[in-house]
Amino acid sequence: MSRVPLSTPDIGSRERELIVQAFDDGYVGPLGPYLERFEAQFCAYTGMQHAVAVSSGTAALHLALHMLGLEPGARVAAPTLTFIGGVAPIRYVGAEPVFIDCEPDSWGMDPARLDEACVMAAREGRPIRAVVPADLYGQACDLHAIRAVAEAHGAVVVLDAAESVGSHYMGRHVGPGASCAAFSFNGNKIITTGGGGMLASDDGDLIARARKLATAAREPAVHYEHAEVGFNYRLSSLSAALGIAQLEGIEGKVARRRAIFERYRTRLADVPGLSFAPEAEGRRHTRWLSVVLLEPGGRLDREGLRLVLDAAGIEARPVWKPMHLQPVFARAIVAGGTTAQDLFDRGLCLPSGSDLDDLTIDRICDAIRTALI
Ligand SMILES: *Cc1c(COP(=O)(O)O)cnc(C)c1O
Repeated sequence: MSRVPLSTPDIGSRERELIVQAFDDGYVGPLGPYLERFEAQFCAYTGMQHAVAVSSGTAALHLALHMLGLEPGARVAAPTLTFIGGVAPIRYVGAEPVFIDCEPDSWGMDPARLDEACVMAAREGRPIRAVVPADLYGQACDLHAIRAVAEAHGAVVVLDAAESVGSHYMGRHVGPGASCAAFSFNGNKIITTGGGGMLASDDGDLIARARKLATAAREPAVHYEHAEVGFNYRLSSLSAALGIAQLEGIEGKVARRRAIFERYRTRLADVPGLSFAPEAEGRRHTRWLSVVLLEPGGRLDREGLRLVLDAAGIEARPVWKPMHLQPVFARAIVAGGTTAQDLFDRGLCLPSGSDLDDLTIDRICDAIRTALI
C-alpha cells in the first residue's frame, strides 16, 4: 500500500488550465494580470482591502517587521508554540524574540502571559515593540484580547496567519484587527501556489510600501533608482495562476478538511485516552491539520503512536516543538511555556490532506484503535 502523507497539494484540471493559460499568454514573471487577479481575489475572499503576493509567508512577515523600523535588539513577542517561519523574521530584522505560552482553548498566544511579558520588559527598560501572534493549525488566536494588551503597551500587532487561510474569527475571515496579516501558500498548507505568501492589510499605504520593498525597492524611474535597500520577494505569475485556481476551490477544501476531522472524531470517539484539538467558541477552525492528544498513562505515548503509524505507512507528526525548547533560542525569554510543552508532548497531527478519501481515513483509524485499545 502507498504511504499516506500528512498533507499534500490538492490540485486538479483547473490549476493546470490556468497555469497553461498564463504560460500561453507569456506571463511567467513577477508582474502582470495574473498577480493582480490573484491579489484582488484574495482581498475579495478575506474581506481585506489591500494585498501583495510574495514568495513565501516568511517573506511576508519579514517585510511587515522590516517596515516597523525597529531598533537593533528591539523586543518582539511571538508564540512559543509555532513554526519557525513565524519567528525567524524577528531575527532577520535584528530584533530579539520573547516567547509567550499558548491558551488551552485555541492554542493561540495567551493574552495574560503577553501582558506579563510586556510589563516585565517595560520594567527592564526594553519594552516589547511588536507582537506576532499566530493562528495555529487553522484556528484563529484571540486577536482582540491580544491587540488590547499590545495597544496598552504601545506595541504593533502583525498577525502570522500562515496556517489560517479560510479561518474565521468573530464572524469574519482572519486578518482584520492586526496592522497587517501574513498568509502562506506553501506546498502543504490548505491552498498552495507551490511556494508563496501574501501580506494583506486595510492600510493601503502599508501594502504599497511592502510592494515596493518586495520589488527591490525600485523608485518610479526608468533607470533603476534606489533610495533604500529592498528585497526580491515577488511571486511569479505562474504561481499566481495556480493560486487563482486554488482560491476558487478554497471553501470546498475547508469543508473537506473539517469533514476529515469529524470522521476521525466519530470513528475514534470510544478510544480511551485520546482527545481532539478544540475549536474555540465563535471561530471557524479549518482543521488544516487534524490533531489528537494522548492522555498520560495510556497504552502508548505520542511518539509510540507515531512510530506505530509510521510502520503502517502513515505519516503523522508531533505538534510544533515550542521555540523556547529549540537549541537556537536556548537563551530567549519565555513567559510560561508549560501549556505549549504539554501540547508538544501529547499532540500528534494526523494525515489531513483535502484529497484524502474516507477509506484511507478509516484505515488510519483502524491502525490507531489497534494500537491504543
Ligand atoms: C508555514 C508557516 C510560516 C511560513 O510560511 P512559508 O510560506 O512556509 O514561508 C510561518 N508561520 C507559520 C505558523 C507557518 O505554519
